[in-house]
Amino acid sequence: MKYEMVVGLETHVELSTKSKIFCSCPTDFGGEPNTHCCPVCTGEPGTLPILNKKVLEYAIKAGLATNCEISRSTHMDRKNYVYPDLPKAYQISQFDEPICKEGYIELDSGRRIGILRIHMEEDAGKLVHEGGYTYVDYNRGGVPLIEIVTKPDIRSIDEAREYLEKLQLILRHIGVSDCKMQEGSMRCDVNISIRPVGQTTFGTRCEIKNMNSLSFIEKALAYEFARQVDLVESGQAVEQETRRFDEVSGTTESMRGKEDAQDYRYFRDPDLPQIEVSEEIIERIKAGLPELPRQKQARYTTELGLPATESALIIKYKNIADYFEKAVAAGASPKNACNLIVTHIFRNFATEEEKEKFALPITPEMLAELIKLLDGGKITANIARDTLTKMLASGKPCTDFLTASDLASVDPAEVDRLCKEAIAANQKAVADFLAGKEIALKAVLGYVMKATRGKANAAEVEAKLISLIKG
Ligand code: ADP
Ligand code: MG
Ligand code: ZN
Repeated sequence: MKYEMVVGLETHVELSTKSKIFCSCPTDFGGEPNTHCCPVCTGEPGTLPILNKKVLEYAIKAGLATNCEISRSTHMDRKNYVYPDLPKAYQISQFDEPICKEGYIELDSGRRIGILRIHMEEDAGKLVHEGGYTYVDYNRGGVPLIEIVTKPDIRSIDEAREYLEKLQLILRHIGVSDCKMQEGSMRCDVNISIRPVGQTTFGTRCEIKNMNSLSFIEKALAYEFARQVDLVESGQAVEQETRRFDEVSGTTESMRGKEDAQDYRYFRDPDLPQIEVSEEIIERIKAGLPELPRQKQARYTTELGLPATESALIIKYKNIADYFEKAVAAGASPKNACNLIVTHIFRNFATEEEKEKFALPITPEMLAELIKLLDGGKITANIARDTLTKMLASGKPCTDFLTASDLASVDPAEVDRLCKEAIAANQKAVADFLAGKEIALKAVLGYVMKATRGKANAAEVEAKLISLIKG
């Protein structure tokens, strides 16, 4: 029998507000333990939480960017449980009336992954295990989170990855979170069940908690799919339970039976007022949303005429897209700007993290200055690349490196004239080429390269020659 996986993801994302969700403590990552907290964070008697308006605004932004409906009237609830990282013994969250509902993210295949809900909640503190002791650090307690819950619409590991990458990209673009999985500002609970292909009802699911790397999520899904298929094939049942992924062995193991919503004794938080969201607020936030990645991709390919794959590479990182657009705004042609960034500048960034930061020693305007020379045929592509290498190594402008002969080398009209001259001088090679002997063109090309002392762009000259020869 052939089986398919059915997957739903619950993604927690830390919002990049300056202060926490219910007090004015800073949200900065790291810091000496227990220095970013106050009696409100830890829920001491006599304190009252006040909802940070920015958190509401960011949650609405996230909802609008993922095609959600925004609740006009909502509230916060208490989710009760005991754990040392949660001194109040309840987490303030949202239960029956999340701020956003019924959205979706569209994959490249056109398939839409439904979003059930997005709700606001506070993060818990962190336990630190060291030298046989366990310490607790409340710095993270009260850091604002949104939880984005999908419908069980995901059908493969590839779809899970694509959904998460798209979600990450959208949230980064609208500036609500840096979504750094390695720092824990984006974490994922993975729900997975299996069913025979063709069956419409769902199987029993397992939930794998707290995954903070895409590759672990992929491994956990692969392992869990195989485990559930084995169980079912051997006539056993999948138990609904919460499991843990072991990074070393790449397997999952049972942690506990699945808890139900009723186990948490959710009830409305009496310390916080009803939240009313007016149409004006929603409209104002909508108007302030930047261009979303999908819209950017469409604009880059249709208006700027960039190839889809290259523009996707640029859009994948917000800082790179911003840099590219500044270079274009400063007068660089989109084609050459994209080309130099993707083929040349990318080489300097080995990791995803470095690409995300995209810390370059030259400004987009400095890059544009170089590209304008290339666009205008004042320098060749080879010289542009060499000069860019020097600029990147030194942080200096192109004018520091370009010599008079670099700049004088390739007047396009001169190249044109030399191409015609080369054809006239190499009639035999041209005839051979026309007869199908492609290598013969090298002699004609060599003539032009020699005449320009290697400064003409060989690829461009070759294309020019072919068009002249074939008419
Ligand atoms: P709970 O609140 O008990 O965790 P939800 O109904 O909110 O349950 O669902 C949590 C997540 O589990 C959602 O992302 C949902 O899409 C997913 N899910 C629900 N049923 C299944 C299933 N049968 N197989 C895989 N995922 C599922
Ligand atoms: Mg859940
Ligand atoms: Zn505080």
